[in-house]
Amino acid sequence: MTFHCQNYDINADACKKLRGECLPGRRGCVLEGRVALSEELEQKIKDLEARMQGAME
Ligand code: SF4
Repeated sequence: MTFHCQNYDINADACKKLRGECLPGRRGCVLEGRVALSEELEQKIKDLEARMQGAME
């Protein structure tokens, strides 16, 4: 199964809604809480949130 998200900018390889990396299921994503995430994707989201937290401090 494939999923096409209207928020995905294929040219920039980024999420237009969140103005950053497309990681399906991340906080603020249209799929947040609606899909089961692989361990790999969960780790990528944790890493992204840690980087964002670090950038805000
Ligand atoms: S992060 Fe979510 S909302 Fe954004 S482009 Fe990817 S799938 Fe769509």
